[in-house]
Amino acid sequence: MLVSKSEKNLLRLAQGQLNSLSLCPRLFQYRHLEQLYSFTNPEQEAKQALGSKFHLLMQQREMGLPIDEILVDDPQLRSWIEDLSEVAPLIFISNPQVFRESEHYRTWQIDEYLLSVIYDLLILTTDQAQIIDWKTYPEPLSKKRLEDSWQTRLYLYVLAETTTYPPEAISMTYWFFQTGGKPTCATIRYSHTLHEQIKRELSRLLTKLSGYLAEFNQQKQFPQLPEGSKLCQSCAFASRCDRVATSADYVTVDRSPTNSSQEQQYTTSLDPGINAVDSNLLDFDAVEEIAL
Ligand code: SF4
Repeated sequence: MLVSKSEKNLLRLAQGQLNSLSLCPRLFQYRHLEQLYSFTNPEQEAKQALGSKFHLLMQQREMGLPIDEILVDDPQLRSWIEDLSEVAPLIFISNPQVFRESEHYRTWQIDEYLLSVIYDLLILTTDQAQIIDWKTYPEPLSKKRLEDSWQTRLYLYVLAETTTYPPEAISMTYWFFQTGGKPTCATIRYSHTLHEQIKRELSRLLTKLSGYLAEFNQQKQFPQLPEGSKLCQSCAFASRCDRVATSADYVTVDRSPTNSSQEQQYTTSLDPGINAVDSNLLDFDAVEEIAL
C-alpha cells in the first residue's frame, strides 16, 4: 500500500513505484493507487517462490541460523550457495569489525514522501559501504539497465543520504544466480556527480507526482503514454487503456499498509499474440524484488 498512516500520512515510495512512475504515470496509478495486479502464470510463480526461498536462506545464514537441512532437500539452492562460496568466499566471512545485516531497511524523507529501501545484504567497513542484492534471474541484466534502474539509483542515494560515507565509498553489487551456471556479478560504483544527478531527478519526479496526485483527488486520471508507444504493447493494462483489443489479466488485491516492502511482488503478463516489444522495461521491477 502506498499510504502509510502510521508514518504521519507520508507517501511511502519504494523502487517499484519510482520505476512505474518513470515508465508511465498511468501505470503507477493502476499498480500503486488502484492496486491492480496481473495474474502470474505457474512458471513465474515457481521462479518467484525459488527466489523468495533463496533470499530467506541467505537471511537465515546471515543470522547464524542453520540452513543445512533445507539445502539437503533442494539441490538448486544448495548449488547456488556452494557456487557463491566458491566464486566469492569473502561474502561468507564475518568480521567483528565489519557491520553486516541482511534485509536491512532504511528510509529517507523528501517533503511528504518517504523513500524506502531494503538491502538484501549491507556490509559497512570503516571506509566502504557495500550494498548486495541477490537476483535469481534466468540471465544477468546488462550493466546499463542496472545503472538506469530506480533500484540501483534509490538504493545508492538513500545510503549516501543516511550515512556519513562519501558517495565514492559506496557501491552496489548485484549477484545473478541462474540454473546451470556459476553466479555472476555486476558492481555499480557511486559518485558525488551521480548523487547530485539522482537528487535532481527525484525532485523532478516527485514534483510531477504531487501534481498528478492533486489532480487525481479531483477525479482526473494520471497521464498515459502517447498512442503508439511501444511499451503499451507489452503492458498488462493495454486493454484497460484502450491500446489493444485483447483483454489483459489483472486483479485488485488488498494490501495492508505494513506490506509496502512487498509492493514489487507482482508480474506483468504479456498478451498472447502481441510481440514482447520492450517488455524488459516492464520486467525489471516486476520480477527482481522478491519479498520475504
Ligand atoms: S497501456 Fe500504455 S498508457 Fe496504459 S498503463 Fe500501460 S504503458 Fe501506460
